[in-house]
Amino acid sequence: MSVTANSVWNNCLDFIQDNIQPQAFKTWFEPIKPVKLSDSALSIQVPSKFFYEWLEEHYVKLLKVALTKELGDNAKLVYIIKMENTYGNREPFTEQIPSANRGNVSPQEMDVPIKSKNPELKNPFVIPGIRNIKIESQLNPSYNFDNFLEGDSNRLARSAGMAVANKPGGTSFNPLLIFGGVGLGKTHLAHAIGVEIKDKYPERTVLYISAEKFTQQYIESVKKNTRNDFIHFYQLIDVLIIDDVQFLSGKSGTQDVFFHIFNHLHQNGKQVILTSDKAPVDMQDIEQRLLSRFKWGLSAELQNPDYETRVSILRNKLYRDGVEMSDEIVDYVAKHIKTNIRELEGAIISLIAQSSFNKKEVTLELAQEVVEKFVKNTKREVSIDYIQKVVSDYFEMDVATLQSKTRKRHIVQARQLAMFFAKKFTKASLASIGSQIGKRDHATVLHACKTVDNLAETDKQFRKYIEDLTKKFS
Ligand code: ADP
Ligand code: MG
Repeated sequence: MSVTANSVWNNCLDFIQDNIQPQAFKTWFEPIKPVKLSDSALSIQVPSKFFYEWLEEHYVKLLKVALTKELGDNAKLVYIIKMENTYGNREPFTEQIPSANRGNVSPQEMDVPIKSKNPELKNPFVIPGIRNIKIESQLNPSYNFDNFLEGDSNRLARSAGMAVANKPGGTSFNPLLIFGGVGLGKTHLAHAIGVEIKDKYPERTVLYISAEKFTQQYIESVKKNTRNDFIHFYQLIDVLIIDDVQFLSGKSGTQDVFFHIFNHLHQNGKQVILTSDKAPVDMQDIEQRLLSRFKWGLSAELQNPDYETRVSILRNKLYRDGVEMSDEIVDYVAKHIKTNIRELEGAIISLIAQSSFNKKEVTLELAQEVVEKFVKNTKREVSIDYIQKVVSDYFEMDVATLQSKTRKRHIVQARQLAMFFAKKFTKASLASIGSQIGKRDHATVLHACKTVDNLAETDKQFRKYIEDLTKKFS
């Protein structure tokens, strides 16, 4: 058997897996791809610079032992970093360590020092008339790391946040951009980082501000002719946290001023933390030069929490509020509210409130009622038609082909998958599924479901189809 990057790396993985926690293995080793083997140097591709630093900090010894076992004493490891701006379908940029180079700043983009007309510094947070020298951080201490529960969906963002909090301005995740959908914990995590920094480094100036408020302050400063004071104020901050930067879309004046502030802070080793509801590549109407800054550091996504994380968030909430609730209820809520932690918490708070007003136990019926109110707006019915459409699109055929009588293997498989998903995601009977997918009988549908189950276990490619399609339905 010939030695390839793949075979070497697979052997390393076997060894590594035996020596670390399964969760750590999953987080830090499964995403790595072996790329090249030349002489005794193995190149591996890692998802980000953060990933690389984490591996170097925590697993360098283990990697060394594993690699030496495979390639001898001269073994070398080369990291190839997939750049953060590969969201979407672009060709991945790669960067090979140790050529880490932050990209040169072209002259017209350099930060131009701005002279203040007014020597006394204006703090836009100060209410006129009240003297206030210290900059208040505007942080909410109840959003901290202790109550930001960890799960697969937030592990990378949370670890990156921790790393930044330990060494603000001293890691390559600058800026740290946390992005993800509504109610997934961006604001919470952003505060948690700030709170942790204040705790560790009380002398540093930390400031949390929403992009909206930042914009208002900026507009105000232009009106009052104090734009330069505004800029100077922000240039004094050690750790600047701006929440919901997507709000800056289309606001070129504010973007411009933020660009200057950002450059100044970055060049002076200050930390910038941003949140957004989109990945940089999907941001609309944000200037290119600003977007390129966002990509300098790390973009870490908060994804939809999985079932276990949802349960632990609910349990934790109940525990902190000193409320007991049966597992059945917790399970019900966690199973039905999937894509928004704020709604998850809202439902449980509403249940707690109802039970304490009425002084009675929370029943499953009450839970169903409450949950229904929360999910009504977001629920999307998956129909058999929709399933056929999605499966046909995925295999690049039309629905008529999928339903046709042909026995061509790839078409049969597509049809069977459509039947399988119809069984899984709708309440329709086997007979009804069969009649809607090309007029087949219930036995054919049953056979299709069994075949899909079998193939899922034995055929890797087929399993991938199922995974891809499942994502499209959930
Ligand atoms: P976003 O800013 O992304 O819209 P928030 O930060 O406001 O979301 O979070 C919504 C709610 O969910 C908050 O009450 C927050 O405390 C809670 N939350 C989010 N993620 C977690 C988590 N991992 N652990 C505990 N609570 C969380
Ligand atoms: Mg928010």
